[in-house]
Order: sequence, then C-alpha cells, then structure tokens
Amino acid sequence: MYFWSMKRVIVVVDELYDFIEGGSLACAHSLEAVAATKRLIAQNPDTPVLFVCDHHPANHCSFAAQGGPWPPHCVAGTHGAEIHEDLQAFVQDGRVFFKGCDPSMEQYSGFEGRNAAGQALCEVLETLAPEEVVIAGIATEYCVYNTVVDLRKAGWKVVIAEDCLGWVDAEGHAEALAAMGDSGT
Ligand SMILES: [Zn+2]
Repeated sequence: MYFWSMKRVIVVVDELYDFIEGGSLACAHSLEAVAATKRLIAQNPDTPVLFVCDHHPANHCSFAAQGGPWPPHCVAGTHGAEIHEDLQAFVQDGRVFFKGCDPSMEQYSGFEGRNAAGQALCEVLETLAPEEVVIAGIATEYCVYNTVVDLRKAGWKVVIAEDCLGWVDAEGHAEALAAMGDSGT
C-alpha cells in the first residue's frame, strides 16, 4: 500500500470534526482513522489528495428535526464541518469537494461533490487520470461505501485503505467491507 510507484489518487471522505470523537455524530475508530490517513498521505507525498466534505444547510433533510435519521452534523460554517486539523496541511485549493449542500437531498457519495470552482470530484479525477483510487474515511458503511460504489460504476479501480476507516456500527462496517471486497477492483 505504501511507497507505491503506480499513479494513484487518495480520496479522503468526511474526516470532519462532527464524525470524529467529540463530534455530534462521532464514529468508532475515528481518531485512529485520522492518524492512519495522515501517515498514508505523508508517506506518499507526490500523490494527489482529494477531500470530500459533508456540508449541510441547517435545515437539511437528513436531520432528525426534518424527519431524517441523523442528529444535526457538518452544518456549513461550523467547527463540525471542518477537516480535522491533523490533515489541514494536505488540503489544496480546488481539491476539497462538498456534498449534501441541497437541503432536500441526501448525498452520501462524494462522487458528484463539488469544489469551490464548481468542478465535480469525478471531473477532477478524469483530469488526474490515476491508475487506482485509494479510499480513506468515515463512515465505512455510508459515505465511504457509496463513494466506492459510484467510483467503480464509473470504471475506476478502487483500493480500500482499511486502517483509515471509521464507522457508525461495527457490524455495518464489516458488512460494507465485505460488499466492497466482493465488488472487485
Ligand atoms: Zn450528512
């Protein structure tokens, strides 16, 4: 996995304060995921890194007050929506992609997330043209899983960085890992 020569891109999904220990939707293995992701990026300094960020309006449909399954999280402009400080050094202009911005639509996948210039992650990937996409992030069974499914549908070879994952539920994590393994790379 590390010190690779193949052309790769690392996609980091939702390593945001609200999904990390202390956040409103804190996930298991979240601090470990951030630490492992930091190591992965630092050990591969020439590999482009794309960050996917859940980024909701305060009245988002996925929040309990609107009948959704989740407590409020990653509201735009709040600390909870920010990328963990240990990863900030790796954030580059044009490589942060926001999703879940439409109040009426849930968007677990980062595939169509958009950067500040309005480019979709899938478009930027085409430009970078990696041989493989390496996925890290939170939560395995929701946003990581859905992003991986969309990437593979589009024909990308995807590698899961297992030590860089956090999850809502251990069983769901295991099931999602198995499903992602089965869909092949
Ligand atoms: Zn969300």
